[in-house]
Amino acid sequence: MNSLAKFHSFALPAEAKQIIILETLTQLPDIVWTNDTWILGAGSNTIFTSDYSGTVLVNQLLGVHIQETSTRWLIDIAAGENWHSLVLNLVEQGIFGLENLALIPGSVGAAPVQNIGAYGVEISRYIKSVQVYNFKTHEFSTMNNADCRFAYRDSIFKLTENAHLLITSVQLELPKSWQPVLDYPDLSSLPRDASAEAIMKHVINVRNAKLPDPEKLPNAGSFFKNPIVSKAYYEELLATYPDMPAFVLDKHSVKLAAGWLIDHAGLKALNVGDAAVHQRQALVLINRGRASGNDLITLARAICTRISEKYGVYLEPEVRLLGQNGLLETL
Ligand SMILES: Cc1cc2nc3c(=O)[nH]c(=O)nc-3n(C[C@H](O)[C@H](O)[C@H](O)COP(=O)(O)OP(=O)(O)OC[C@H]3O[C@@H](n4cnc5c(N)ncnc54)[C@H](O)[C@@H]3O)c2cc1C
Repeated sequence: MNSLAKFHSFALPAEAKQIIILETLTQLPDIVWTNDTWILGAGSNTIFTSDYSGTVLVNQLLGVHIQETSTRWLIDIAAGENWHSLVLNLVEQGIFGLENLALIPGSVGAAPVQNIGAYGVEISRYIKSVQVYNFKTHEFSTMNNADCRFAYRDSIFKLTENAHLLITSVQLELPKSWQPVLDYPDLSSLPRDASAEAIMKHVINVRNAKLPDPEKLPNAGSFFKNPIVSKAYYEELLATYPDMPAFVLDKHSVKLAAGWLIDHAGLKALNVGDAAVHQRQALVLINRGRASGNDLITLARAICTRISEKYGVYLEPEVRLLGQNGLLETL
């Protein structure tokens, strides 16, 4: 039995042909890479919608090394470290910058993959480099920030042709000249000179109030990305939906709030079997206990169809959906 239920936070009852736990770099040369090998961290952004016919490689490499210069902190973190514990530890030690990213579930190694972001900060801002092991050549290399081609919830590591690249560690560069980032509406109640500790506590409280805890109610966080549309199209939408929120990206494009679109399309009560839209945060789909992969995919498709009919906007999954033979490229 190679149950994947406890290896992904949506907790669907899937099995893998083989599960390998990676705890030390010395295991790497002996791991045979095939096209159906899937690298996994803590599984909080990955959903196994059916049994998986290949090998799942669970990264649990540990270790943190901190160097200090007169102007900055350089922190090397092994990819299997828990992201939130890292944030807590650094803020506790007076090393600031990651406080807005507190309580994001998952591993450090997955953070660059989708360029995690929350409350106005993306991790790409602080990544100096990423150490990578190439399973095809069995060589290590270092990729700098530009090599990773970070974008909104995206990086080079999401490309299928790079699936054989294992991130073994991440180097963060945190300047000592810290400034709070308080632009995000949920942080507007904080004073302009709020400390990093205060921001972190506030972020934790806001997240606890808004988001379901995957330990209690299985979910994978935001199921869809916030869609990006042209400014001109947003202005058209505003004529019909004057209170539609958006975040201006540049003079041509804006990011819409997918949760708002789903909520205002009346889909908060929607469910298929035990797969359901979360009552408090419509962007999060949940497993009420006995959901199947089919339930979830049927629900997600119904949401996409309704949103494109109502607003002319296409929602793309933010989560990595896996089927029997690998990544499902479309819903
Ligand atoms: C309640 C909840 C809230 C969330 N909130 C946020 C949020 O605010 N912002 C945000 O950005 N995300 C959020 N997420 C999504 C998730 O926490 C992040 O995407 C996180 O980085 C996933 O980490 P993981 O280790 O669980 O990744 P996994 O799900 O294990 O993997 C995610 C992807 O990364 C790849 N991967 C993992 N480790 C490695 C590695 N070492 N080398 C190469 N590839 C690797 C996997 O193949 C997969 O494609 C949330 C999720 C939940 C459940």
